[in-house]
Amino acid sequence: MNPANEPSHRGSWKHWHTDELPLRLGVSSCLLGEEVRYDGGHARDRFVAESLDRWAEWVPVCPEVEVGMPIPRPTIRLVEVGEEQRLIAPSTGADFTAEMQGYSAVRVGQLQAAGLDGYVLKKNSPSCGMERLPVYRGEQRAHKRGVGLFAAELMRRWPELPVEEEGRLNDPALRENFIVRVFCRNRWRAAAARGWSRSRLVDFHTAHKLLLRAHHEEGYRELGRIVARFGQLPDRELYAAYELEFQATLRHKTSAKANVNVLQHAMGYLKEQLDSSEKQYLLEAIEDYRSGLLPLIVPVSLIRFLIRKFEISYLLDQIYFDPHPKEMMLRNQG
Ligand code: SF4
Repeated sequence: MNPANEPSHRGSWKHWHTDELPLRLGVSSCLLGEEVRYDGGHARDRFVAESLDRWAEWVPVCPEVEVGMPIPRPTIRLVEVGEEQRLIAPSTGADFTAEMQGYSAVRVGQLQAAGLDGYVLKKNSPSCGMERLPVYRGEQRAHKRGVGLFAAELMRRWPELPVEEEGRLNDPALRENFIVRVFCRNRWRAAAARGWSRSRLVDFHTAHKLLLRAHHEEGYRELGRIVARFGQLPDRELYAAYELEFQATLRHKTSAKANVNVLQHAMGYLKEQLDSSEKQYLLEAIEDYRSGLLPLIVPVSLIRFLIRKFEISYLLDQIYFDPHPKEMMLRNQG
């Protein structure tokens, strides 16, 4: 038996995962420790190069080196010229905007063809930074609304791709959101590789119901409407619409309130099996999570145990209870 299909893996990320399609992530090369920065150094990030590394097949990209800039090289920055943000080396006046834009369009197309589950970008880089970069007017800093040129092209051409910066990944909520989205996208790609059919799409959607509801109730309902249109739209269009809305829904961060709603909803499936003191114990654990006294993993683990014990079929298949490897410790924050 394929280990992924063992009964104990029902509803787990392992059930959907296949070793033939590992998590494949684009990354700014310097975050992995490659010495490609303007000063010949790197910007190795521990979470990226150690914690994530265990699960990821990396596709490292250094836009500045790939566009032909040497190591080391003069610093470059974003400069506002009229309506445009241009990529300029202040020490020489050299303008790399056209080269970087042309390169980025081609490179992003190559990455799309290869397939990725997510991308980790280096913050504050005029090529790789995804937000809040300083933009200059002449020699003066004008504002901090710049976006690195490669990052801008990546996000514009590939809106459904989960993208984050290494700095933002230090925030536990942003980190969890990114990892959830990356594993969801990997499951989507693995399911697509097996081939879609109406029943497979329904199974995929059903398994993600509680997870989606924890992220965004309206997005979850919209996805249900997309699935219901099977046969009314060309299949390819329907899958593309689902994929876009799936990632857009997951981009919404979960909240304690949304998780409490999902946990209480799950408890509803156990009302026949639990006596009043067991129900009270569970409700207290959920309440302690809501008030910040317990991390989410506690009520989730309690309910997961009960789902297995009483074999509640609908809940056994819910990926919400085990969406990513526990070694990532993502639900352990209070
Ligand atoms: S261009 Fe990107 S990958 Fe290359 S050194 Fe700068 S931040 Fe790192």
